[in-house]
Amino acid sequence: MSSSSPVLTLEGVAKEYVQGSESVQALEPTSLALAAGELVGILGPSGSGKSTLLTIMGGLRTPTQGAVLIHGAPFSELEEKERARVRHARLGFVLQAAGLVPFLRLRDQFVLHDRVARSRARRAHRDQLVDELGLGGRLEAYPEQMSGGERQRAAIAVALYHDPDIILADEPTAALDSSRARTVAELLAAQTHEWGKATVMVTHDERLLDVCDRVLVMSDGVLTETTHAEVVRSGPVPPGTGQD
Ligand code: ADP
Ligand code: MG
Repeated sequence: MSSSSPVLTLEGVAKEYVQGSESVQALEPTSLALAAGELVGILGPSGSGKSTLLTIMGGLRTPTQGAVLIHGAPFSELEEKERARVRHARLGFVLQAAGLVPFLRLRDQFVLHDRVARSRARRAHRDQLVDELGLGGRLEAYPEQMSGGERQRAAIAVALYHDPDIILADEPTAALDSSRARTVAELLAAQTHEWGKATVMVTHDERLLDVCDRVLVMSDGVLTETTHAEVVRSGPVPPGTGQD
């Protein structure tokens, strides 16, 4: 596989939600190619379609138009079971509803990953992630014993543990103070650049966009490529209806 071929490709992907007689065009037709080693930041107000885009990229929702490809092969069009297999092998999610299992200690969240992936435990890798994310000494804690910020960082450690090709992070820093938020954004950037991952980070916080290689803005379902400098020049994103 050539390193220049995109890891993740969107071809005219769009999403319309239908609820009874109401329908919402949450995502207009969107095309995008994401290369290995690229960290893409997506900024936009609440309700603009960011989570819709991310969940379609990750095969958790299907588009109503267009297609998602991974390493050039169909992904969004696969049957659910096959999509789940590719998802386990290739993708790491950092979602807002943090992906931790409530009844497992942090230590066992990693073990669960090993079992699902049928892979051997990688203790040194686990310990490095846990240390880098400031969770040293928290391996015995259950999610409910952690602070909101610790839970968010634990979800990131678990998502990175199996070395996914593609990392999809939806507001990974929302529950963190600004110094922890920067640490997390820099960790995602380092993982992306050092290990050639393709990463998408949705954020409300434009101060974190300087660690991104590309910056996109979502507005009413329309995704537009911009730059960090342009975002700074045009001022803050209008506040949304809530913290999402
Ligand atoms: P963001 O992540 O930028 O806040 P979302 O992708 O969550 O935006 O939502 C985009 C639009 O789609 C909003 O108008 C939202 O109300 C709508 N929407 C999101 N999820 C659903 C759903 N499951 N059913 C119906 N409408 C939805
Ligand atoms: Mg969202």
